Parts: sequence; structure tokens; C-alpha cells
Amino acid sequence: MNILLIKEEIKNLVNLLNKYSYLYYVEDNPEINDTQYDMLYKKLEKLEHQYPELIMKNSPTQRVGDIVLNEFKKVEHTTPMLSLSNTFSYEELLDFDSRIKKALKTNDDIEYICELKIDGLAVSLHYENGELIKAATRGDGTIGEDVTENIKTILTIPRQLNDIVNIEVRGEVYMPKKSFKIINSEREKNNEPLFANPRNAAAGSIRQLDSKITASRKLSAFIYNIVNSEEDTQQKSLELLNKYGFSINNNYKLCRNINEVSEYIKYWELNKKTLPYEVDGVVIKINNVNFQEQLGFTQKSPKWATSFKFAEEELATKLLNIELSVGRTGIVTPVANLEPVNISGSVVSKASLHNKDIISELDIRIGDTVVVKKAGEIIPKVIKVVTELRTENSEKYIFPENCPSCNSILISEHENPFTRCINKNCPEQNIKKIIHFASREAMNIDGLGDKLIINLFEKKLISNITDLYSLNKEELINLERMGEKSVNNLLLAITNSKKVSLDKIIYSLGILNVGKKASSILAEYYKNLDKFISATYDELVTLSDFGEITAKSIIEFLSSEENIEIIKKLQEIGIDPIFENIEKEENIFSNKIVVLTGKLVKLTRNEAKEYLETCNAKVTNSVTKNTAYLICGEKAGSKLQKAKELGITIINEEQFINIINNK
Ligand code: NAD
Repeated sequence: MNILLIKEEIKNLVNLLNKYSYLYYVEDNPEINDTQYDMLYKKLEKLEHQYPELIMKNSPTQRVGDIVLNEFKKVEHTTPMLSLSNTFSYEELLDFDSRIKKALKTNDDIEYICELKIDGLAVSLHYENGELIKAATRGDGTIGEDVTENIKTILTIPRQLNDIVNIEVRGEVYMPKKSFKIINSEREKNNEPLFANPRNAAAGSIRQLDSKITASRKLSAFIYNIVNSEEDTQQKSLELLNKYGFSINNNYKLCRNINEVSEYIKYWELNKKTLPYEVDGVVIKINNVNFQEQLGFTQKSPKWATSFKFAEEELATKLLNIELSVGRTGIVTPVANLEPVNISGSVVSKASLHNKDIISELDIRIGDTVVVKKAGEIIPKVIKVVTELRTENSEKYIFPENCPSCNSILISEHENPFTRCINKNCPEQNIKKIIHFASREAMNIDGLGDKLIINLFEKKLISNITDLYSLNKEELINLERMGEKSVNNLLLAITNSKKVSLDKIIYSLGILNVGKKASSILAEYYKNLDKFISATYDELVTLSDFGEITAKSIIEFLSSEENIEIIKKLQEIGIDPIFENIEKEENIFSNKIVVLTGKLVKLTRNEAKEYLETCNAKVTNSVTKNTAYLICGEKAGSKLQKAKELGITIINEEQFINIINNK
């Protein structure tokens, strides 16, 4: 890469990170979340490592973050208050462990103490003869702000210790989640700007000129460090702090090696939501003070500790390219190809851009740094462009006018932002229709995966869904990676799929805007395929939950000769079910609220959900006091914890299957 471009990129990153730091530390009003900040910071660090001659004096990598406000008296820290280095993945954690072993010239396991990384702000507290005499913020690490009066309003910080000692301790002031909620709802009522998160609320509350305001904010604190402690381990320091009367966080754990550290992190990543305060990671410290002293510090942080930051669901990464994907209903969706990035434990390299309006609304250009969000199980999406990082090389994206699969002209309808290919013979559209038809939620044809469908389509053995039913053994056995057994199983699965219910076959047709619920309503109303194909618009709009859009899509589908021919052919093949009013099974789940959590092994989440719905249970996502049962698979996390706290009946997978089988 051209050195001038790198210089420009470094300058942009420094300016941007400094702007974000100002908003975060001074205004207590961050514009982006910490993970996005950390990723940009990492990017800068990497460039500075490659080009040390380009490091700028005002780079955030060269100093501890906070900016000291002039309104407060200044306090000089006798021992600097530093930051922590960050790790974001288990590989980085292993690297940290190897670096430590190398520096200590040992192959033995290192004993670490893991503490929760409380998301608040660091303070230093001075006690003389056991009495609190001074409290200061971290500031820029050397000079902090005197916040003694404000700190005195925090009930969990003792004004007088249980022992007459002269000490300096350090810890984290935080705002419990409950206080955060109350304060933000009060601010909303008073039309005041809301705090972005409890950390910023805590920082804003400590840096108040009127300590009455601080007192009203219901802050709390955990203390985790004695400056120049005489104890020989961090664990003993924590125990001593406890004895003096400080509130320490009791979730710390002594780990015999880095694997135990990983386990601790995994546990808290899953369970952090159960805590009444925010944590943004885990702090890993060498327990042995002698080792700590041997390792020392960098300009910014101790070499004997690091923080493992929990991933948030939004991250910044580079948009490499935009691809178009044609769906089964002809909708053409732009998909972002991204520089791979780890979001909440999985690597994301693609994200949906939804439609062309979103590309122009967000002004997304190829080469841009974009923010990607992962929302639950749904495909990640691009939500924002970091325009400050745009370089001259970024390219405007022109949405193609032709279908990427069949080259026919794409149609944009006025009332919706989607672009569609309306060519009935579009190969990609037809492949997607067959993939949808065979999928688990539709006809559930085992062994008929996407790759096989594409292969069959390309070899012209199938061109639509009905062709699946005329596939024969000779054709299939000649295909790559198809042995006799898998061919027999596939043919059997295809034959078995004929015994399908009316709602499933309607859903399998892949009609635009007709999901599983709409298919059930249609099945219940029309009772068979003959009646369904003569549905009218006027009838459809009267069905419960049906709007004009769905009704229109169904009429459009049924007015196509090809589609009617396909339905008739399915009937000839023997797929012509009659709606059966299944008596809902009565059991312990009937009329109860049930939550599913963890990984089920013997059945899928959907199968479990469908079964519960046939018993008239309501399946919801979160555990509350109204939940009657929690069905719990492997590796369950916070929902299990909450259910235990609320005394909700927990049923494991085996017990659940026994109930299904009436055992
Ligand atoms: P840090 O928050 O990553 O880690 C150091 C801090 O952890 C310590 O100063 C201490 O306050 C805290 N901590 C909590 N529990 C602890 C424990 N048990 N033991 C030791 N320390 C503990 O580093 P930082 O320098 O305070 O802040 C930098 C971070 O601030 C960045 O990583 C970024 O996430 C965030 N930031 C965000 C923005 C934004 O716009 N969102 C801007 C600037 C900085």
C-alpha cells in the first residue's frame, strides 16, 4: 500500500478515536459502542506496529484515556493509574499466557486470578488512620480529579475502615442496572438527554460539582487493588480489603492455568446478564506478586494482567464487495462481503443489505468501514458507515439493472423498496424454490441439501419441485458422492414427503409473504388444494391476520398458469391432503408459558416448539415470573440461572421427550 495512503489512514484513525474518546470521557456520551471503538483502536495499533515511524504524538495508543476537567481540584497520583491491555479471542489469551511464560522463562502453568471487569470508572481512595481523606478519578493516569466529597456519598465505600491503617486502594465505581433504569426514566420524563450506558452514567455522576446530585444517583463500588500491597498474592490482597470493610467482588476465581481462565470467561460471557451491574469482560491477573514485579509495566498498562473483552453484537469492518442474491420469490437482495470479523463468538463475512434504498440511504460504498450488527439468530446486517474513515478509493455502488442469474430486466415496484426478477425461468430463483420446498420447515426431505439440489438442477435432472418425484435410482447413483445407501434413503424421504399436511404443502409452495402461520390459516379455511387454488382476493382479505399485501401475493401466485400446473401435478403425484382439525393434546404444558433454552440433541428447537404449540402452550423467549416451565438443553446459560432464581420448574430434554411419548 502507498505510504501516503497509510499516513492518511493513521491520521484519520487518530482523529476519529480522539473524537470518540472526548465524547466518551468528557461528555460521557459515546457515539459508538466499546467494541467498535476497540476494533478501530486495534486497527490503529496494527498499523503503528507495522509503521512505527508514522506514530503520531496525539495517538490514543500513547496515553491513558481520560481527560481531566478543569472544574475539579487536581490530584497527582504517586503511583500511576494505568489502563489494561485487551484481548478479544481465546487465541489472543493463549498468546498472552505464552508471552508471560517466555518472560518468566518457565514452562510451568501460571496461576491467574480472574476478576469480573466492572464497567464503571476507576477511582483511587486514600485512607489515613483508617479514615477516608481523599478520592480521585484516574484522569490521564498521572493527574486525576479530586472527587472526595462525591465519593463520600457512596454507601458501599467505607468512610472509616475496620483497622487504623494508612493505605491507598483502587477500585471501580459503578451504577447498578436498577439505578440506571430509574435515572434514565426520570431523565426521559424531564426531557433530559439519556445516559448511553451505566458506565457513562456512573462517570457523569461522579464528576458532578454538586455532591447532592451524586448522592441521588445511587452509585456503588468494588475495590480490587491495594497500592504497594505487602501481601504476596492478589488473592490475599482481596481478602485483606474485605477485612478492612471494603466491598470486593466475590465472583473472583483462582485459576491454576490458562485453560481454567478460558472456562471462567466462557461461564461469565453466558451468565453476565444475571448480574445486577454491567461487566464488559474479565480481568486476568497473575496472582503471584513476585512474578508481577518481574514483569513490570508498559507505558500504558501492566504486563502481568490483561482484560478479556466480551464481544458486543456490533462491530466495524471493511466492506469488500456487494453481491446480489436472487430469492425464491424473485426478490434480489444485496449481500455485503466483509473482511471477516468475530461477532459474539462467530466469524461474520457476509451481511444483508436488504435492498437498494438502504444502500443509498446509508450511502454505503465499496471499501468503506461499516458497522455490522448481529441481532439474535438473524443474519447480521450493516447498520452504519463510518464515513470519517472513508478513503479516496471507496467506490459508489451502482445497483445493476439486470438479474445476476438470468440477465432479465429487474423490476422495482413503487410501494415497496425491493427489486425483483420476474422471469419465471430464472435459474437461481427456481433453485431457491426447490431448496425452500425441500427444507426442514417445509417438506422436510432428508438428504436433499442445497448442493445436491444445485447439482440436480445443473444436470437438468430437475427444473421444478414436481420433478423431484420422478427422480430415479439410475440418475442419482451416477452423481458424485452418491452411494447406493444414500440414494435409497433419499428416494424413501422423497416418497415419505407425500404424506404431508395441507398447511405444510401450502407453505412449501414458497408464495411471497406467506409464512407458516398464514399457511395454517389458509389450510384451515380452504380445507383442500382445489378450494385453495380458486381463492379470491375478497375472501383472502377477510381472513384473520391477512392484509392486502398477502392477499395480493396469493392472487398473483394463483393467477400464474405455471403455478397452477405445478399444484395440479402435485395432486396427480398423490400430494393432495385434506385439512384435518387436529385435536390439541392436553398435558402439563396446555395453556402454560414455556421457554426453551440450551442445545437440544434429540430434536430441533422448531420441533420442540411445534409440539408445544400443538398442546396449546405459549412459547416465549425470556424467563419471567409468569413462565411455567423451562425446557433446558445442553450448555444452558442465563435463562437457566434466572429460572433457578425464580423457582421455575426445569425440565431436561429426556424428561421432555418422555412427556411427549406419554411415558
Ligand atoms: P479498559 O476499560 O479497557 O480497562 C482498564 C480499566 O478496567 C481500569 O482502569 C479499571 O477502571 C477497570 N477495571 C474494572 N474492573 C477491574 C478489575 N477487577 N481489576 C482491574 N481493573 C478493572 O481501559 P480504559 O483505558 O479505562 O478505557 C479504554 C476503553 O474505554 C476502551 O477499550 C474502550 O472500550 C472504551 N472507550 C470507548 C469509547 C467509545 O466511544 N465507546 C471511547 C473511548 C474509550
